[in-house]
Amino acid sequence: MSLVVLDAGHGGENPGAVYEGRREKDDALAIAMGVGAILERNGVDVYYTRTTDIYESPAKKAREANRIRADYFVSIHRNSSPYPNQYSGVESLVYKKGGKGEQLAENINKELEKVGFLNQGIRETPNLAVLRRTEMPAVLLEVGFINTAQDNQRLDERFDEVVSAIAKGILETL
Ligand SMILES: [Zn+2]
Repeated sequence: MSLVVLDAGHGGENPGAVYEGRREKDDALAIAMGVGAILERNGVDVYYTRTTDIYESPAKKAREANRIRADYFVSIHRNSSPYPNQYSGVESLVYKKGGKGEQLAENINKELEKVGFLNQGIRETPNLAVLRRTEMPAVLLEVGFINTAQDNQRLDERFDEVVSAIAKGILETL
């Protein structure tokens, strides 16, 4: 059986990006819990780095994932840009392209594209602890822009489809 870590980004005193009162940490937690429920129904073991509004450092989250020998690590975030409605779409960050991490990112992006998100692709980001320090394939997923109306509307109105798409992308990769 596969063990997947779902990491809701930010939390507690760290709200992540904030736009018109909307906080990235809340979206990330709701998405992570929704995805996890689907994975669990499909027989996947899920480890949540948080299930409430608390903060834990990315380095500690990576250590935990290594300790429990997780098969995959998926960190859930929302993107943000200098100006509202400047960009839209989903983007996945990986430590390095190639291998299972990129495959996972590609599968999730592709499924989210089917729900209507613009697919902004996969970007190598070597300086993030949850990507650099994890010993298993890891992806940081930016589920649309928190300061783009179209992305928020899609997330809110089609929330179940969005979390299903992410879960499906993970299940396809396992
Ligand atoms: Zn974030």
